[in-house]
Amino acid sequence: MNPDSEAGPAPAGAPRIIPRAEHPISRQQISANALRVLYRLREGGHQAFLVGGCLRDLMLGVEPKDFDVATSARPEEVKRLFRNCRLIGRRFRLAHVFFGHDIIEVATFRAASAPLPGTDEADDPDILLEVGASEDDPQAEAESDEAREREAHGDGNGDSDEGDRVLDEGGRILRDNTYGSIEEDVWRRDFACNALYYNIEDFSLWDFVGAVEDIQARRLRLIGDPEQRYREDPVRMLRAARFEAKLGFRLDAPSEAPLEGLRELLTGVPAARLFDETLKLFLTGHGVTSLEVLRRRGLLGVLYPEVEGFLGRHPGGAVEQLLRAGLANTDARVQAGKSVTPTFLFTLLLYGPIAAHIEQQPPERWGEVGAILDACDAALREATRRVTIPKRFALGVRDMFALQPQLEHPRSRRVLRLIEQPRFRAAFDLLLLRAQVGMAQRELVDWWSALQAADPAQRQEMALALEAARGQRGEGEGGGRPRRRRRRRRPGA
Ligand code: ATP
Ligand code: MG
Repeated sequence: MNPDSEAGPAPAGAPRIIPRAEHPISRQQISANALRVLYRLREGGHQAFLVGGCLRDLMLGVEPKDFDVATSARPEEVKRLFRNCRLIGRRFRLAHVFFGHDIIEVATFRAASAPLPGTDEADDPDILLEVGASEDDPQAEAESDEAREREAHGDGNGDSDEGDRVLDEGGRILRDNTYGSIEEDVWRRDFACNALYYNIEDFSLWDFVGAVEDIQARRLRLIGDPEQRYREDPVRMLRAARFEAKLGFRLDAPSEAPLEGLRELLTGVPAARLFDETLKLFLTGHGVTSLEVLRRRGLLGVLYPEVEGFLGRHPGGAVEQLLRAGLANTDARVQAGKSVTPTFLFTLLLYGPIAAHIEQQPPERWGEVGAILDACDAALREATRRVTIPKRFALGVRDMFALQPQLEHPRSRRVLRLIEQPRFRAAFDLLLLRAQVGMAQRELVDWWSALQAADPAQRQEMALALEAARGQRGEGEGGGRPRRRRRRRRPGA
């Protein structure tokens, strides 16, 4: 059957069923907790499948980020089967089954062509945890989770179990709560390669839309009419870019063609969801490629117009080099299983716009903390017109920039306190990147590296030596200016 001729919620025909002996996915590759959930659902008399990205990844030999379950059981039935279960979501009710930190998301089959679990801005609390963002401030993180939770349950609007579907004038789905069969569920998936099902009953794969072929051909093809699918949920344009970057898949021509005309629709997507997508694009190990794909597809200019504007005006310049080098470091940290933070990401992304604001000041103010913070605030304000930047990360960005002058002009009395500051390490990493692209002096970086490596007595000595050196040059600690003034370097050059 040809999905292109069947746009919309019409039920799919019979799937191609691939028996266990004829596909490579074994239970050993599936998370034990996901298997527990699948078995329990089956024992409860329900159909239970793994679905989506995890199967695509297993077919490719990539380790899945998470395992999503689709079932014929209604959310309340799922809740009754699991003690460790919470129902979330306002537009769509989903079950989260908890095993310590591991969460298995269980979605009931849905009838209409609609966005999925995770696309409701109120029901994606785990992306921050996934990328380790909570490191920045666990307390704030917990509070924001609670706020999302309240929102998810709070307003009593459209939270009924009966099917209803509301579109806005542009065809975007605002609300959808129709449960259905697996034959209907498949139509609301985005790309064919994400629409494979694994049946726990007999370990077979169910393929309604040529998913296996697409995965083998590394092809991204929207199910149904591409234009309609992008209009329903413009975030699918970002998902396309993300899968291109993450998996090296290619969009097929019909899914690529409407992008140019439709990308502005992203401006109508809730800013909080665009924040989540930003993290998935840049903090999951393929940030350098995501940047390339987003720019090639004209999507960066819609998400972050000022960032694209700056990069466009300074092609190949120091800021672009800094951004790419920073993203490459971030990718390497993710691959190594180390933590990464949105603070550092937004520092990199907004470096250009912030530098542009600083340069609007007279050159003698470029090194002043006040001018730097004003520039940060202006750039953050502009960016948050499209994409939410939670306050704790915005404050982090300000700290990173405010610390740069202190790192560039170390003073005896301050340095020992400075390296104990929680943000020191990140600010130092920024200095390192800046030196790498010629925006700061290499010797400074070496000096701070040596200071960090030194024992307490040596540190004391190094701090005092700073003052002695300044004294020899005739610069007092009390705000005396260096005698030989260096020409001010442009912040963004
Ligand atoms: P990854 O986990 O690697 O980010 P994924 O494909 O698993 O990729 P998820 O966001 O985890 O993506 O979503 C799970 C599945 O839900 C997808 O494979 C897809 O079938 C479906 N899906 C998710 N978001 C959408 C959407 N916006 N529109 C349609 N289907 C979606
Ligand atoms: Mg997934």
